[in-house]
Amino acid sequence: MVSVAAARKKLVRVCRECHRVVEGESCTICGSGNISTDWAGYLVIIDPQRSEVAKKMNISLPGRYALKVR
Ligand SMILES: [Zn+2]
Repeated sequence: MVSVAAARKKLVRVCRECHRVVEGESCTICGSGNISTDWAGYLVIIDPQRSEVAKKMNISLPGRYALKVR
């Protein structure tokens, strides 16, 4: 039996192209199938226009992102 946190982390996949958290086999934003489970830093962007982090990462849509994707 694995812990809930570990199981959830394993299931969370992010797009290598735009760093967005992906549910499924490909990214709904950029259409990329380049998905990684090896990431760090959970980021929730609510208002990309007002977020410095979003600007730095070229994020234009609200959502969940990973700060670093390997
Ligand atoms: Zn993407």
